[in-house]
Order: sequence, then structure tokens, then C-alpha cells
Amino acid sequence: MDGLTTVFVVHETRQPSTLAVIAVCSEHAALLKRASWAGIDELVGFSTVVDCEACAMPPDETLLIHASARTKPRHLHPVPTA
Ligand SMILES: [Zn+2]
Repeated sequence: MDGLTTVFVVHETRQPSTLAVIAVCSEHAALLKRASWAGIDELVGFSTVVDCEACAMPPDETLLIHASARTKPRHLHPVPTA
């Protein structure tokens, strides 16, 4: 299956409500499945036209899913003072 990327919907363990779509090669898909900081919600499908997003990153940032940081919401809930 060389040249195929797998497209997943993933979430960060710390922020389960923050979902990101990421395309990864089989090697990085294996890493992603073992990762403790992210969980896979859904396997969307396979693609021959999308490149692996993790391979495209500099080696020291291969802990992908900084991809989800771009959509990180900042909801500050003020604590009610009773
Ligand atoms: Zn890759």
C-alpha cells in the first residue's frame, strides 16, 4: 500500500472536544495509534493524492497533531463566586 495515506479524525487526549483531520502514511498511522496524547475517533478513508502531514514536518516536530493547535479554542469560564 505504498503511497497511500490514511485520513483520520483525531482528538487530543487533553482536549477530547477538539477534533482535527489528519492524513498520515502507514508508518505515522502506527505511531498515531500508539500515541497517548491523541486518540483516533474515526478512520475517514485512504488517499493517494494527500501527502503525510507528519512526514512534511521537521523531524523534531514529528509529534504531529500540533496541527490541532491551529484550531485550539480559548474558552475561559469564569468561576462563579458564590
Ligand atoms: Zn509519515
